[in-house]
Amino acid sequence: MDIQPSPASTGPEACGSAAETGTAEPPEPPSRIPPRLFPATVKERERGASFPQSERSRAFRRRFFPTATAALWNDWRWQLQHRIRELAELAQVIRLSPGERAAVARHSGPLPVGITPYYASLLSETDPAQPLRRTHIPVEGEYLQSPGESGDPLGEDHDSPVPGLVHRYPDRVLFLATGFCSTYCRYCTRSRMVGGGEYTFSLRQWERAIAYIEAHTEIRDVLLSGGDPLTIATDKLEWLFARLRAIRHVEFLRVGTKVPVVLPQRITRDLTRMLRRYHPLWMSLHFTHPDELTPEVAESTARLADAGIPLGSQTVLLKGINDSVPVMRELMHGLLRLRVRPYYLYQCDPITGSAHFRTSVAKGLEIIAGLRGHTTGYAVPHFVIDAPGGGGKIPLLPDYLAAREEGAITLRNYEGNLYRYPDP
Ligand code: SF4
Repeated sequence: MDIQPSPASTGPEACGSAAETGTAEPPEPPSRIPPRLFPATVKERERGASFPQSERSRAFRRRFFPTATAALWNDWRWQLQHRIRELAELAQVIRLSPGERAAVARHSGPLPVGITPYYASLLSETDPAQPLRRTHIPVEGEYLQSPGESGDPLGEDHDSPVPGLVHRYPDRVLFLATGFCSTYCRYCTRSRMVGGGEYTFSLRQWERAIAYIEAHTEIRDVLLSGGDPLTIATDKLEWLFARLRAIRHVEFLRVGTKVPVVLPQRITRDLTRMLRRYHPLWMSLHFTHPDELTPEVAESTARLADAGIPLGSQTVLLKGINDSVPVMRELMHGLLRLRVRPYYLYQCDPITGSAHFRTSVAKGLEIIAGLRGHTTGYAVPHFVIDAPGGGGKIPLLPDYLAAREEGAITLRNYEGNLYRYPDP
């Protein structure tokens, strides 16, 4: 890692302007897609020689990775190799609060710290309360166990007939292909298994999962997740796709991933060429906050959409991060501009040490009520709770049914007005 000493490490008494000290100014706030600007057209992108790089990313690269060229920065393997994982590395790019510093120093076991340089460029250097920073830098609350929390709140291990496969719903399975992620979200539902821990993932394990799917003809839909499947090398991923698509009763594949958001450079032409060979293929992209909507991410979603992959989003509702109507509206509107259909808004799962992330359920309902009717229907996700203990996803809606009587119901619309509907 060629991170250079940060001006932050020289202490607040260090004086002189950026020009005087030869250092760059701290990066500007994330370069969001301007509200009326749409991602480049296919022709524009085909003409473009390389992946876009926002002003913010460029400034961060020059400041902290001065020997990395733009081409290296845009190489997803370079991004993975240069992930920020150690306290000392983190302290160079971020002025850690005492609580963050203690929490990072204390960490051991699964769900390590791991942040791609690209995603690190979106984090605030100075503000511990910045939403993206809160989702990726541990704090002491992570070590507190609150009532109702557990390491496996969804009971996935109970519904796992072979390691790495969850068969909960009758006609579909969750295939956990890897425990590796390019960045580790502090609220991860699978924190017990990602980034190390008691789980291992191997080709032998994939073979056992494939054999199970082959033997169960009721399985028509396989969701690949993890960890993040798009961190797997393209040829290895293709091997897995080919094996799964060769099973006659598997009608289509889905991929759950955060890579297009935290490592957008991974969406290479090679990858999309491979992916389009395995249609029908759907993708669920994990977004958290409008600060993630950068020119780089617009490029990654455009490449996937151009490859004919229907894109949906999933977002976890997080306290102080995205738990307001304006923030959620901005995120959902931005996703539609990126050709991503908002799909799920999840109530945060009660994993151990998640109390500082969890909102009330009423907050989620308030957000849905603030979107439904007030904006495009496509911009309104399904608000769901993944029921603890393995009950599956249960949708929740604000109460639009005001009264029911013989032969009629009374409905409440988005403005609170009441309407009677004849119900035979
Ligand atoms: S990318 Fe997904 S699997 Fe990986 S840490 Fe984040 S939430 Fe967990």
